[in-house]
Amino acid sequence: MSHSKIDLHASLKKFFGFNKFKGLQEGVINNLLQGNNTFVIMPTGGGKSLCYQLPALMQEGTAIVVSPLIALMKNQVDAIRGISPDYGVAHVLNSSLTKTQVKEVKEDILSGVTKMLYVAPESLIKEEYVEFLRSVKISFVAVDEAHCISEWGHDFRPEYRNLKAIVGRLGDNIPMIGLTATATPKVQEDIVKNLGITDAKLFKASFNRPNLFYEVRPKTQNIEADIIRFVKQNVGKSGIIYCLSRKKVEALAQVLQVNGISAVPYHAGFDAKTRSRYQDMFLMEEVDVVVATIAFGMGIDKPDVRFVIHNDIPKSLESYYQETGRAGRDGGEGHCLAFYSYKDIEKLEKFMSGKPVAEQEIGNALLQEVVGFAETSMSRRKFILHYFGEDFDEVNGEGADMDDNTRTPKEKVEAKENVVK
Ligand code: ADP
Ligand code: MG
Repeated sequence: MSHSKIDLHASLKKFFGFNKFKGLQEGVINNLLQGNNTFVIMPTGGGKSLCYQLPALMQEGTAIVVSPLIALMKNQVDAIRGISPDYGVAHVLNSSLTKTQVKEVKEDILSGVTKMLYVAPESLIKEEYVEFLRSVKISFVAVDEAHCISEWGHDFRPEYRNLKAIVGRLGDNIPMIGLTATATPKVQEDIVKNLGITDAKLFKASFNRPNLFYEVRPKTQNIEADIIRFVKQNVGKSGIIYCLSRKKVEALAQVLQVNGISAVPYHAGFDAKTRSRYQDMFLMEEVDVVVATIAFGMGIDKPDVRFVIHNDIPKSLESYYQETGRAGRDGGEGHCLAFYSYKDIEKLEKFMSGKPVAEQEIGNALLQEVVGFAETSMSRRKFILHYFGEDFDEVNGEGADMDDNTRTPKEKVEAKENVVK
């Protein structure tokens, strides 16, 4: 099937109300509509969903969308229904459906109104569903959060490994599109290999965030005073401070409050009501600062977060990138300040010591990259982007002077020598 440029833009407007494609979307969609395997790597917020939603709505048959989180799927499905209820529907197929609901979904698919069928990989394995889906027209299969297929990603899900075989049973030459925000070359290789799409055309957006300033400071006994000073210099601005433990989150939030800084704590140990109250206080700017574990941030879209501080260094550069990425979403200033001590690396190593050997090896390799980043004297932006398989011109690239090493070249940080309690 061929679609003209005009078709594509008209469809974008019709189904989503948008006037322009974002980034690489148009090329991705064209490639998929031509029936080719496609691989999309874009940072979070880059607009990956539309890369499969629009072609699904434009084509005959049903697109199968594999996604790991049912809550996430529900969100997406509801969003589509809100946009264009008359142009086809999206359904979720999962273990929570009653027999009657499953029957309804099947009828909608058979009558051709279901344009997208969201499934968790563990549901797709069910023989009953495979048999049924073999008998209907599948436009393509989209695998969202495709890094889940790789042990080198941050969210390995073994069920993703079955996808290639199942899709093979659904029909011949069903085009596949894999999408992820994890861009490390290792994960990338795992994805195309395990999905069986080594021939896929790759669409990779840049991961550079030119407005973010990266800084690493040695973590000393004065860290609390350092943080207080930094926050006071940025009074009135929104910021997130990440800590490794819940205990530290609560303690630091209290220290900040005592020092006249408006801050709330956030971690998964609070009940849902408390969590959403603290989150709202931050979003509504009743407080400047949220001190949090990594439980905070997923799906939070506050455009004007002006700083992200890491009280403790994260366990991978991937996490560091995701967490710092919450600063400066609006394109404005975003200061990313990480405190680093080798002692914290040893702590993280210790956490892993109970895990299976293979997992430990991967975990340690990821940690070594973090050490490299923290101790480097080169452009931190170049280091991060290199980690994501991207070349960065540290002289002329966008944001080239936006890190401590480039702006004020200094001697290498030897955090091993710093004293930390
Ligand atoms: P990702 O999955 O890559 O993290 P999403 O698919 O959730 O990103 O999209 C992020 C945001 O971008 C959404 O709010 C979406 O509506 C918006 N968006 C996507 N494509 C466009 C577009 N062409 N024009 C305007 N907004 C878009
Ligand atoms: Mg997404």
